[in-house]
Amino acid sequence: MNDILPDQSPTWRYLEATVEKVVGQYAYSEIRLPIVEKTELFKRSIGEVTDIVEKEMYTFDDRNNDSLTLRPEGTAGCVRAGEEHGLLFNQTQRLWYKGPMFRYEKPQKGRYRQFHQIGIETFGMASADIDAEVIMVSARLWKELGLLDSVRLQLNSLGSNEARANYRDALVSYLDIHFDKLDEDSQRRLSSNPLRVLDSKDESTQRVLENAPVLSEYLDEESATHFSELRDILDRAGIAYEINPRLVRGLDYYCKTVFEWVTDKLGAQGTVCAGGRYDGLVKQLGGRPTPAVGFAMGIERLVLMLETLDLVPAELKCSLDLYLAAEQKGLQPNVLLLAENIRQIDPELRVMTHCSGLKNINNKARQTGAGQIALLNEQEGRISVAYWNQDNPRIDMSEQEFLALIESNMSSS
Ligand code: ATP
Ligand code: MG
Repeated sequence: MNDILPDQSPTWRYLEATVEKVVGQYAYSEIRLPIVEKTELFKRSIGEVTDIVEKEMYTFDDRNNDSLTLRPEGTAGCVRAGEEHGLLFNQTQRLWYKGPMFRYEKPQKGRYRQFHQIGIETFGMASADIDAEVIMVSARLWKELGLLDSVRLQLNSLGSNEARANYRDALVSYLDIHFDKLDEDSQRRLSSNPLRVLDSKDESTQRVLENAPVLSEYLDEESATHFSELRDILDRAGIAYEINPRLVRGLDYYCKTVFEWVTDKLGAQGTVCAGGRYDGLVKQLGGRPTPAVGFAMGIERLVLMLETLDLVPAELKCSLDLYLAAEQKGLQPNVLLLAENIRQIDPELRVMTHCSGLKNINNKARQTGAGQIALLNEQEGRISVAYWNQDNPRIDMSEQEFLALIESNMSSS
């Protein structure tokens, strides 16, 4: 679990602000959800035999012996909340959320135990246009962040539950024949969650998979049409994609569309955004049948990308405009009051006052990296301000003149 330190937070804020701007452009509304939910919720939605539920959840009993879990993802809680507050029945919703998620994983670059996601979830819309919109939201975000050339869209359709069940049978029959060549994890998954074998990184398993039956040949008519409608909109919108017939996603609730945005800029953990359609989930959790589609993106991986590619605008990193200090004892209140006046005049200016101790004021002021420095001093009962900035050497002036200067700097910028 990471601390996000002061020199990293500007990148986070930039990313979050950009996402908020983009989801706003599509008129999505924010939903804020609890970090803890009943364990049952995740078991029933994500699926008992998924990696997340089998081995990654932080689960504990509270004082009432209710089993609770730190949320490993956002969709289940969003559906729970939507159902509980009547947001889903007989209406459409476009929602977004952000926040920490928790999974007990082996920590490595791009994979942490507390990580952060921003996600969108839409409800009540069954046709492929909304799948396309959801993908367009992400594409616009990459464009906005300057990442469009660094990510690729992978797309697949899982079909209906029935089509998937037929495919599962065919896949299991095929893999059974080659059981000995599968890695241990895949052998285990063959009985619990066979589609996940498609995801295996093991070389020997990969070779077996080369001749395995492919999902697309088992697609039901309706899903196939839905998928081609989606591809048509993406084509017309100029959003490039690759069909990846082995893309299955690690959560049980998906059907029809699944997609991932992947990058090769981060090494192993290359998926920065993943999502798809989950038409069955609302009903599965006790609601009426409600089509739904959404995605979640991993903020840490996007932050890593922005840093690696040096894409955070420089002005967002600078955190201090003006440093204000006293050169003599007794002027500390004047410094604070002058700073208040300045903040009143120019609310955008980031002003820091020097508090405590008067040693080496000049050096300390320079070390802050502030673009402008002002030092208060008193001579013969008159207070004056020594001011300099990156372009101009030190000049002395009265407090009134200084405030006038701040005002004129503001109106000229
Ligand atoms: P992966 O295959 O990388 O384990 P996943 O299928 O488990 O991903 P999802 O549940 O779809 O991931 O989560 C969506 C996104 O959240 C991922 O694409 C990734 O960017 C991010 N993410 C998932 N798990 C972690 C983690 N432990 N640490 C950091 N980011 C994560
Ligand atoms: Mg995972």
